[in-house]
Amino acid sequence: MTDYFNARILLDPKEVPKQWVNILPDLPTPMTPLINPMDGKPAPFELAAAIFPKECVIQEVSQEPTIPIPKELREIYARSHRPTPLHRAYGLEKELGVEGEEIKIFYKNESVSPTGSHKPNTALAQAYYAKADGINELVTETGAGQWGSGLSYGCSLFNITCTVYMVRASFLQKPGRKILMRSYDGEVHASPSRFTESGRSYYENDPDHPGSLGIAISEAVEHSLRSEKIRYSLGSVVNFVCLHQTVVGQETQQQLKKAGIDQPDIVIGCMGGGSNFSGMAIPFARDKIRGDAPDIQIIGVEPRACPSVCKGKYTWDYGDSAKKAPILKMHTLGHNFIPSPIHAGGLRYHGIAPIVSNLYNNGVIEATMHHQLEVIEAGMLFAKAEGILPAPETNHAVKEAMNQALKAKEKNEKKTIVFNFSGHGYFDLLAYKEYMTGELENFELSEEKIQKSINDADMPQIDESAF
Ligand SMILES: *Cc1c(COP(=O)(O)O)cnc(C)c1O
Repeated sequence: MTDYFNARILLDPKEVPKQWVNILPDLPTPMTPLINPMDGKPAPFELAAAIFPKECVIQEVSQEPTIPIPKELREIYARSHRPTPLHRAYGLEKELGVEGEEIKIFYKNESVSPTGSHKPNTALAQAYYAKADGINELVTETGAGQWGSGLSYGCSLFNITCTVYMVRASFLQKPGRKILMRSYDGEVHASPSRFTESGRSYYENDPDHPGSLGIAISEAVEHSLRSEKIRYSLGSVVNFVCLHQTVVGQETQQQLKKAGIDQPDIVIGCMGGGSNFSGMAIPFARDKIRGDAPDIQIIGVEPRACPSVCKGKYTWDYGDSAKKAPILKMHTLGHNFIPSPIHAGGLRYHGIAPIVSNLYNNGVIEATMHHQLEVIEAGMLFAKAEGILPAPETNHAVKEAMNQALKAKEKNEKKTIVFNFSGHGYFDLLAYKEYMTGELENFELSEEKIQKSINDADMPQIDESAF
């Protein structure tokens, strides 16, 4: 008999993790530093601390295996949305015809945060540290609007001004996200804007310029350098963001234990900049590296329209197209890469977190990719089976979990599969509408286009012997 009282595995608010898991000291090969785009050398502490909150810069390079979460921040996590539930996907298992105890599917529900995704896990931490540093404004860019809403919410809790440069194409396409940010008193500017040097020339040439993440990053970084009291905030890619997200994987481990599972067989997450995947994967990856769970399979999922890990080159590259953000060593499609307009806006970044690149190169994790149509279809099936309509980004993980379950059934294998449900899709209904009306299309990136984007990118030449 199925025990539906065990379908949602909950933790007590007091079980919010007391620390974050820092994978840096356990990585099989050393982590590469952030490079200053001005001189091609590792960014000195003072420079990085002029851009990001100070504590975050310390965390970026820390070699401590765990970093304590301040008590006040744990309380804010608890008051806001943590711990989040882990669900046994009974409905999905039934829909796939894999019901029983041989194949188990679990998902960690990060969509229950106030803004509907995992983004507040780092937004709350960054706003907390900014407040502690006496900073009174955080500025950032946003594409689809998930990160902008997360940070606006975080800043509202700490009475800090939040300014968001939102790519104009999204600003017009997703008015709901803009309204949500404004509800938290976030200042939202369509980018390119007339408020910065970096945006003005584009804006004056064409007030309807659709913008890009590259331009929005340049505007946000420029804005942050206006005053000592302003800092720039990032929602993915860098080490400290991946670190903050490890509450996700740690809670999942505790919850699986409550369900009588020592270690899952397969761990899955979707990958844009790599933060929600890292948050889920890092605690499991550490167990794998240390030999405590050598056989665990950890899979990151990308869109076929933007496969930075599966098809990109591992090299030094700029974080943004304007070359103002730090240079990172990562899998990249080139900083000028303009992805097709897929609905999974959060997965359209040209690179990936250096932590993810490192784990991939060392064989700790693997990567795969899916098409837009098949992932939206998976999302519709998930909605019918489990009730929540997933974000287009999240659907990549949903699709892979379904594939793995069906594969296990075919091979008559016992598998426990767990995936991160990074967010809901209630601000992304247009994607589903287009699917229903047959307007949605696949974008496959040809090998030729990928090579051209990488070759044309004039990657920075970094002298690694100097550090
Ligand atoms: C932002 C976002 C992503 C992609 O970002 P990562 O840093 O790769 O996690 C994925 N899912 C949702 C719901 C998002 O909002």
